[in-house]
Amino acid sequence: MNKSETLFERAQLTIPGGVNSPVRAFKAVGGTPRFIAKADGPYMFDVDGKRYIDYVNSWGPMVLGHNNQAIREAVIKAAEFGLSYGAPTEAEIEMAELVSSIVPSMEMVRMVNSGTEATMSAIRLARGYTGKNKLLKFEGCYHGHADSLLVKAGSGALTFGVPSSPGVPDDVAKHTLTVEFNNLDSVAEAFEQHSDDIACIIVEPVAGNMNCIPPEDGFLQGLRKLCDQHGAVLIFDEVMTGFRVSLGGAQEKYNVVPDLTCLGKVIGGGMPVGAFGGKRDILTHVAPTGPIYQAGTLSGNPIAMAAGLCALKQLKAPGFYESIFENTQALADGFQKMADKNAISLTTNVAGSMFGIFFTSDKKVVNYQQAISVNQAQFNQFYHNMLNEGVYLAPASFEAGFVSKMHTKTVVEQTLAAADRAFAGITAS
Ligand code: PMP
Repeated sequence: MNKSETLFERAQLTIPGGVNSPVRAFKAVGGTPRFIAKADGPYMFDVDGKRYIDYVNSWGPMVLGHNNQAIREAVIKAAEFGLSYGAPTEAEIEMAELVSSIVPSMEMVRMVNSGTEATMSAIRLARGYTGKNKLLKFEGCYHGHADSLLVKAGSGALTFGVPSSPGVPDDVAKHTLTVEFNNLDSVAEAFEQHSDDIACIIVEPVAGNMNCIPPEDGFLQGLRKLCDQHGAVLIFDEVMTGFRVSLGGAQEKYNVVPDLTCLGKVIGGGMPVGAFGGKRDILTHVAPTGPIYQAGTLSGNPIAMAAGLCALKQLKAPGFYESIFENTQALADGFQKMADKNAISLTTNVAGSMFGIFFTSDKKVVNYQQAISVNQAQFNQFYHNMLNEGVYLAPASFEAGFVSKMHTKTVVEQTLAAADRAFAGITAS
């Protein structure tokens, strides 16, 4: 047994499934998860000493690459002054001001500790602000694991939601309506049926949890219009897309202004951080200025603020994103070329520094039904072939890939050479 295998066996005795977040367990692709010893730049190194080019990037946060020197130094410096106070600090103001200046729709910002907390709080705020109960979400979008959001569509497209996990009461799930991503008609229909009780729409403006699916032209604009017509709050869950598909997130890239925005991942520079914010008029309803309760012992933690501020300041450098976007496009184009060469049916999607590869003969993938219809056997083989080649992709075909500043042209070329061999090694049909 190698070290990862030994550790995985040991982990499963005291940690459910051996992991602290399910997809890390490699259930979808099979095999043993790699236990990681360290990471640097575009690479992760497992406990057996193998190096991987990493396209998971901690599921998104590491847009600067792993072990960024400035962030590391900022964290060490902050740690010298104590780890947490539970009292306000200047760094929190600086963070709110910086976020507001980068994402202007976020006139006010509240820091939290994860993306889940951000979306959960934004939804409570939308409900409290509008006095309405229902929320509308999209099939295949993930917004963290709060009860109202672990809901899938009922049997008809517009039935009340049903829990997608035991432990979520039907009485909670029934307030969540789930409709099709990139299908405005399904949203309009939901508003027709429940017009006076929809508090908000929550959407990943680029879906990154059913692989990578960008919005079609006019989709986000259409959501904005429907929310305005029906007095609903538009929430962009930019936990994944924030500071990633462009500095100002998807709202900047697609030029649509939401009422509320949720952030996570990149904003913490690798520390456990999230944030929600938006229109001043709405945010003033949050405690202590308003009656809608939201709080956190470690929210705005000084170490987390130091890491996040240091990350965001680096991202603001003019032209920072150009090479990442170019390299992401080159990577996706290269995957396509290598798949074609090896007679494997593949389609790719790209949004900024996020990418998706779909083992399908569909020429364009725009929704969940298509995303789940991919050739799973081929993906799994490709996955393990790439892992053997030293390329670490997300261990499930429903996840977006992430490129960092440290994934240079050379690193991308090495990845594509590996991909050529990995496609060639696919025997499943
Ligand atoms: N929203 C989106 C779009 C996400 O991708 C995620 C996590 N992958 C979350 C919310 C939840 O964030 P966290 O895991 O930090 O709770």
